[in-house]
Amino acid sequence: MGRRLGVMGGTFDPIHHGHLLTAEEAAVQFGLHQVIFVPTGRPWMKADREVTPAEHRYLMTVIATASNPRFTVSRIEIDRPGPTYTVDTLRALREQHPDAELFFVTGADAMLEIFHWKDPEELFALAHFIAATRPGYDLAHFEAEAPTAHPKVTVMNIPALAISSTDIRQRVREGRPIRYLLPEGVKSYIEKEGLYR
Ligand code: NAP
Repeated sequence: MGRRLGVMGGTFDPIHHGHLLTAEEAAVQFGLHQVIFVPTGRPWMKADREVTPAEHRYLMTVIATASNPRFTVSRIEIDRPGPTYTVDTLRALREQHPDAELFFVTGADAMLEIFHWKDPEELFALAHFIAATRPGYDLAHFEAEAPTAHPKVTVMNIPALAISSTDIRQRVREGRPIRYLLPEGVKSYIEKEGLYR
């Protein structure tokens, strides 16, 4: 059997314990040999806010994953010019690891839109997709929008995803504690760089 590679896609603004547990759970459930964290490309305007510069998000991801021998971090989306499309990332990873089976992991809300991502047919040819949900997530909504019946999509419930990057950013802004929501090193980095104030 070839290697099974997890590809953990996200903005990671900032990375937190919910993300780390998602990756670990995916690795156990799907027998992944390695999980590559791929922070999304250069800052762009999301509908509601500006994303933190990629270099900060990349470094926080490196700090958070450093102690896990199965986790690595890729600069592939950060260093690629133009808008970030998952299909380009999976194509490149397929070339780098021709014998590996790819498992793309991300949040269910993002994956709801997968049929509207660039080249959905090719996406499904390149990888399996694992959609991580928070407790209480309306799965019926997910099934209606992006059928879990699709053989290449699996939904995984992760209780620790009650932690969210949005909540962490708001806590920092309001001077409330973030300890234990994310790795101590990431907390120190946020304080040192004055992020999210
Ligand atoms: P997002 O909209 O910022 O996040 C949607 C939800 O998913 C949030 O609740 C988020 O929680 C959660 N989430 C995000 N990444 C996660 C992860 N790896 N594990 C568990 N939960 C996660 O999503 P995004 O970061 O922009 O996009 C997610 C991934 O999908 C990225 O790799 C992105 O490139 C890809 N994507 C591709 C296309 C395309 O190819 N056209 C379009 C959209 C998205 P937190 O805020 O706590 O993380």
